[in-house]
Amino acid sequence: MRAHASVLHLDLDAFFAAVEQRDKPSLRGKPVVVGGVGGRGVVATASYEARRFGVRSAMSTREARSRCPHAAFLSGRFHAYRESSRLVMGVLRSVSPLVEPLSLDEAFVDLEHAGLPDLEVPTVTGFAEQLRARVAEATGGLTASVGVGTSKFIAKVASDLDKPDGLVVVPPGTEVELLRPRHVSVIPGVGPATAERLRRTGIHTVADLESVSLEELVRLLGRAHGTGLFALARAEDDRPVVPEREAKSVSVEGTHDTDLTDRRLMEALLTRQAGEVAARLRKHGLSGRTVTIKVRLHDFTTLSRSTTLASPTDRTTTIARLARGLLTDLDTSGGVRLLGVGVSGLADWIQDDLFSELAEEEDEEETPVEVEVTTGRRRPTWAPGMDVEHADLGRGWVWGSGRGVVTVRFETADSPAGPVRSFAEGDPALSAWVPAEAGEDPA
Ligand SMILES: [Mg+2]
Repeated sequence: MRAHASVLHLDLDAFFAAVEQRDKPSLRGKPVVVGGVGGRGVVATASYEARRFGVRSAMSTREARSRCPHAAFLSGRFHAYRESSRLVMGVLRSVSPLVEPLSLDEAFVDLEHAGLPDLEVPTVTGFAEQLRARVAEATGGLTASVGVGTSKFIAKVASDLDKPDGLVVVPPGTEVELLRPRHVSVIPGVGPATAERLRRTGIHTVADLESVSLEELVRLLGRAHGTGLFALARAEDDRPVVPEREAKSVSVEGTHDTDLTDRRLMEALLTRQAGEVAARLRKHGLSGRTVTIKVRLHDFTTLSRSTTLASPTDRTTTIARLARGLLTDLDTSGGVRLLGVGVSGLADWIQDDLFSELAEEEDEEETPVEVEVTTGRRRPTWAPGMDVEHADLGRGWVWGSGRGVVTVRFETADSPAGPVRSFAEGDPALSAWVPAEAGEDPA
């Protein structure tokens, strides 16, 4: 724990839903649910208006629909979320070289390196307010909740105390009294299973946990976990803010407008992506040991599978073979919206022995990569919420579709709430709108 409140945690509020409300003026102030819209889908994010009806992340969309039938159910636009995230991280990196992103919408910032005149509570409070304003300005109005404290743990707890659009600075010396009355699940690493185990021993709050001896906690939860909780119950946390290193991995991914169901097509896409990853590795003189595939299913769940080689590689055939092998373990029968291949565990040299390199060289040419994403039985999917463009009416988004009809609301972030028009599904004037850089996500 530091002497000053110099760790800042920023968390965007209802991020996916907030981006949708920003870009779709008619949805501002209304319940919005982003997630899998199909039968087995789950909620990724609900706007605060939808949360008032009891809609929560990870709830089944079916349950969400029954709790809030009048909400807009949207299938999500990752290109827009990535772009907003990039803007936010850019603002954070402009104030401190030590920024540690946790996800698209969350990061730690080390204020010891932000060039502040001092790190007293009034100074960091004023700084954090300005930072929130800059994030809102850069993103076209997204709000963030911020916590500042003497450790990562306390900063993260604090950012959650006054959500949404809040700021909480925990003065040094008050950490333990902040934690004591709270449920043990406030501690990172205390999930439902640990919480249940503690509950059976009569431990509910952090104060209860603080009264348990180290020996007893180790006996209850094992050495590593027990020791960790013993420290966190006393607000002891010295983890540094670790900035994301450049090029921890090289990856390529693609989002698809239609759910992919053809296994051979998926394998061909992975093979092509493996080739792009390998080319990038070779271009930068890099190689890596771990090959990962990322698969987002039609219901919004995202899976990743990895395998690690004994020595690093930059070979298309090796990466492609491992990627295709990883896919065989996954049930993709319901359809896939996103596929990606990445290589991590990077080294700036290659350790393959000569023999295996020669063997690789030989089959380098044999990989036929012919990818045709449209097949006869597949038709374009007009997913609710997706961006579209009409030849005469301009940009809008899919309000709904079915029975051969697509209904579009014509509005963008900068327009007033727009009119709704319906078209035949095959109307050539209507097309999906995707920004140029979408579908490629260099890690
Ligand atoms: Mg968030």
